[in-house]
Formats: sequence, structure tokens, C-alpha cells
Amino acid sequence: MNILASIEKYADSQRERTAFKSRTGEITYGELWERSGRLASEIENRMRDNRDPVIVYGHKDPMMIVCFLACVRSGRAYCPVDINTPAERIAQIAETIGEPLVLTANRSSAGNGIDISELLQGSGQVIGYEEIQNLPEAGDSVTKLKPCTGDDVFYIIFTSGTTGRPKGVRITTDNLNGYLSWAVTLAGGIEKQSVFVNQAPYSFDLSVMDLYPCLAVGGTIVSVDSMLQKDNSELMEYLTGKGVNYWVSTPSFASICLAEDRFCAELMPELKGFLFCGEVLPCGTAHSLIKRFPEAKVINTYGPTESTVCVTEIEITEEMAAGSEPLPVGKPRPGTRIELDPETSEIIIIGDTVSPGYYKEPEKTAKVFFTADSENPGEGFGENSVSRAYRTGDRGRFDAGGNLCCDGRIDNQVKLHGYRIEIEDIESNLAGVPGVRRGAVAPRISDGKVESLTAFVIREDETITDDYAGRKSVRLALKEKMPSYMVPKRIIFVEDLPVTNNGKLDRNKLKEMA
Ligand code: AMP
Repeated sequence: MNILASIEKYADSQRERTAFKSRTGEITYGELWERSGRLASEIENRMRDNRDPVIVYGHKDPMMIVCFLACVRSGRAYCPVDINTPAERIAQIAETIGEPLVLTANRSSAGNGIDISELLQGSGQVIGYEEIQNLPEAGDSVTKLKPCTGDDVFYIIFTSGTTGRPKGVRITTDNLNGYLSWAVTLAGGIEKQSVFVNQAPYSFDLSVMDLYPCLAVGGTIVSVDSMLQKDNSELMEYLTGKGVNYWVSTPSFASICLAEDRFCAELMPELKGFLFCGEVLPCGTAHSLIKRFPEAKVINTYGPTESTVCVTEIEITEEMAAGSEPLPVGKPRPGTRIELDPETSEIIIIGDTVSPGYYKEPEKTAKVFFTADSENPGEGFGENSVSRAYRTGDRGRFDAGGNLCCDGRIDNQVKLHGYRIEIEDIESNLAGVPGVRRGAVAPRISDGKVESLTAFVIREDETITDDYAGRKSVRLALKEKMPSYMVPKRIIFVEDLPVTNNGKLDRNKLKEMA
């Protein structure tokens, strides 16, 4: 698979076909290629020898996709940042890159209302939405561009890090193309010109599961913005008559949609499959979907951002959904081998979709990534091949049918409504809140699923006196530092935090308290 070559081919063979649509507009394959070429030339003109990643700031506008392709066509990685990210996180990402070029793929300053130029304060440059829209024709310069290939980093997705700062996962062109060769075979094979629903923001790697497989088959992406996701009834209206063939979302989002009776085969009569990833798929959700959409396959996939979206898959049958939790996550794709650490049962992913590591974080990279000699190569591995490997932090086992199952984490990472959160990320930000001496966070778990987060806070003596106002000010301070999904729902002031016999924070006790 060569994704850029495929898109270029469609830009020629089906110029007028819609590649992407959302409530803010739509774009054809011809236009997507043409506009991204113009912008790629502009990036090349401005950046010259600077090959640093480019930040693409926006939400679900067609310009977002134009910007992604422009970056990689100019030979630079893109780093998607959603408009719902708080200023402090954006500043941290910008600081990590250095003096970044930022492309604004968003018509207004909706979302957090941040003025990105102000935020950068003169370090780095911005190409604004209007400018991107009105770039002159690129002419010859576009043929001189050197697009990303092979080991060139294609995108960098920042995800929660234990130190309170996000870390950037680098995905190369070969990683993505390797992933795509398999992704287009999911659910019995993705048909040409299929229509995909996109739910995940582009700063979350689940979005890669709809964007590129869809573009790889010359299909159309129907993107659901964050406001629409909060209004089930409006969402059902929006989806009516869109001819959706594949649904890509977190299981959490599908279960929210199931609250609406209209979410059934009549709404999407041409639906062929649900593609899930990112968190546990509860049996109940799978069961309801199979009942309401008898013609559609329910596919459970598993994998971390560090190994390009997902690496295992299984079709969930009615029988499996009627069985016990957790549902299996299936067998690895060709080119991936799964091993379990003999002592901890940690899932280790080995293969061609494993990232070369975190951006500018050699120590964090060395902790979890390594090179594995493929002594007994699996399907898709060359003889004596050497592959990158990643320690996932997930605890796994194989069931009687040889399918991988996830049994939770060996660390303190959680998934809340599909979002990946390091508990320590919240705790280090909590420690920086005025009036807080120390804080610890615990998930509240129900039916094996994280329902919400609770923060236990020891306050400084004088600063926070009133409980109600105190909780409010802690929450507000956290909202400025972290995305709102990371801010604990409950804040409880305590005198002490529980400790184990050897004096460590007792996280099991905290979970019970939550
Ligand atoms: P992310 O990098 O955001 O995709 O999160 C990856 C993590 O989500 C994995 O390491 C798992 O902990 C969890 N995860 C992903 N897919 C599944 C699944 N199908 N079942 C259970 N957990 C999953």
C-alpha cells in the first residue's frame, strides 16, 4: 500500500467524488489533491531546510485533511491538535517541537477559543485558514516536492504521559502503509468507494482507522463534530440518507447512540461493519448492535497508538456477545507477532507497525521500545527479520481458540470514554494547583469499565477553606492544564492518603474509596 499514490490516483480517476464531508463543508478528491499540493509548496517555500513536524490545529473541517496531506507531501510529519485542547497542553506540544509552523484548519476560534498566534508569542509561524483557502496555484514547484516515504515520520500523535506532559508517538510512512494493507481487509474486505463515519478527533489515533482506509478505497468520510456528538437526536438526523457502510468509533460512543431507538438498520441500511478499537468492548454493547444491525459485522480490534492504531481483530458473534466478559480481541495481523512476558503476562507487540519511539524522548522510548530478533517469524515476517517491539503495559492471555484477551493494565493507565489517561499525568498537574499539598486519583470501576475518576486532595492549611468553593477552584485550575475529559468528576478533600506497609501510595485502597 502507498497511501499518497492511491489518493493521487483517485484525484485523477474520480475527481468529482466527495472525499470528506462534515457540517462545515465538503471536498472532492480533485480538490483535496490540488489544494494540498498548493499548501505543500507554500510549506516548502517557508520552511526550506527545516524538516520539523508541522502542527495542524483544527477539528472536523475538510481543510484538516488538506493540511495533513500538504505536510506529508512536503516531506514533513504533521501533528494534529484538536481545538478542544487547553492552551497549556498546546503550548507544551509547541515547546517540544521548538518553533513550529502551525496550520490553522479551523474557520473560527470555536472550541477553546484560543488564538494560536497569541499562544505562540512570536516563536513559530502560523498559516491561517483564509490564507490556506486562497493560496495561488503551485505550478511547477509541486513536482519538485519530496513527499514522506519509508522511515520518514508521517504523523505524530501526542498522548497522556506520566510526567504531566503529553508525549508524541511517531508513526512512519511504512508503519502507516503496513497497517493500511491489513486495515482494508477488515470486516471481510472494505469495498471500493465505501462511506465511513468518523467520530474520533484527529488528535486521537482511532481517527486513522477511518481516514486512511477510507481514502485508500476512494471512499467518502462522513465526519461527526464534537457538538453533534452531544446531541443524539440531531446526530440521527445527520446520518439519515448518508449511505454509511462502516462505522468507526469507540465502543463508548456506540453505546451512547444505542440510547436512541432510531439507531438501527433503518437509519443505516447499507451498513456492513462496526470497527471498534481503543477500549474494552462490553458484551452488552456488542449484543445490542448485532440485534439492531443484523447485516453488519461487529469487529473488535486491539492496539495502542504506538503500534499504529491496532494490530489484532476478531468478528464478535452473537454467541460471544452472550458469553462472559471480556470479549477477545482476536488474532494478530500478518506482519505482527504478539508475545506475553513470561513473568507479568504483559502484551508485547512485535512487527512492522511499531513506532520508532516517542518524539525527542530517548529515555521514555528506551523504557518501552526495543528491537526483537525474529527467531520464529510469524506470517508476514521475512526470514531472520529484525523488528521493532513495544511493551504495551496491557496484561494479556490467549483463550482456547488462540485469541488474545486483555485483562487490564500492569500500570496506572486508564481508558475513560475511550480516552487514554495516565493517572500520574493528572496527579502531577494536581500537585501544581494553588492550595493543593498533594493529590491522588483513582478510577471508579463498574462492570470492569472505568466510569469516572475521583481525586483525593490534601489541601494546604490556609488556602482552601470552603469545600464547595475549593472543589470548584481545583477543577477550574485543572481545566486550564488538561483536556476536560481528564479532569476528575469528583474531588474529595482528605487529611491523609492511604499507604501500604512499605509506605507507598495504596492505590487499591484508593480504588475502594472511589
Ligand atoms: P490508544 O493508544 O489510545 O489507542 O490506547 C491503547 C490502549 O487502549 C491499549 O493499550 C489498551 O489498554 C486499550 N485498548 C485498545 N483496544 C482495546 C480493546 N479492544 N479491548 C480492551 N482494551 C483495548
